[in-house]
Amino acid sequence: MKPNIETQLKVLFEGYSKFVDGKYLANCSCVLIKSTPNIVIDTLTSWDDEKLLSALKEENISCDDIDYVVCTHGHSDHVGCNHLFKKAVHIVGFSISHKDCYFTEPDFHSGEEFVINRKVKVIPTPGHTLQDVSVVVDTDNGVVAVTGDLFEKFEDLEDAGIWKSAGSDSEELQEINRRKILKLADFIVPGHGPMFKVPQHFKEAD
Ligand SMILES: [Zn+2]
Repeated sequence: MKPNIETQLKVLFEGYSKFVDGKYLANCSCVLIKSTPNIVIDTLTSWDDEKLLSALKEENISCDDIDYVVCTHGHSDHVGCNHLFKKAVHIVGFSISHKDCYFTEPDFHSGEEFVINRKVKVIPTPGHTLQDVSVVVDTDNGVVAVTGDLFEKFEDLEDAGIWKSAGSDSEELQEINRRKILKLADFIVPGHGPMFKVPQHFKEAD
């Protein structure tokens, strides 16, 4: 029998997007999965090194303890501190690499998944960009999907204008993948808002 994999998911930073004094401010949700292996999902902007380092320190974890960095897509507010994680495999959208070595499998383009362990997998969920991925985590409290900007924030469930105006390279694909995630996840960590529980009626919708 395989030992049980302890999986702890912690939102280190809640993402946001808002207008303040006529300026548009945004940063991503950043998530730590303490597991075997350890994973960081979305690494803020390039100006956030100190912020991320001190959050990891509070979790008693160092950059070199991180085995995988997953960026849900390649936008600047989701990949900024990747360089801190020198020992990790980096998954940025559909691109998977370690140093200058690029993985040819899995093929996210054809819908394949990257299985990190029995409780954590990376799945292709294009729409916001054509190479978006989401991380699906089986926790003791239910299935959590860390989706990046597939979901901008909770409010976009009722107001599609929110995710559409945040930019969508394919609204059609994004609709399909949003529905898929709503069915499989109990909780969603969206790209730019707090984690939320998926309302039951979305799970039952066609
Ligand atoms: Zn974003």
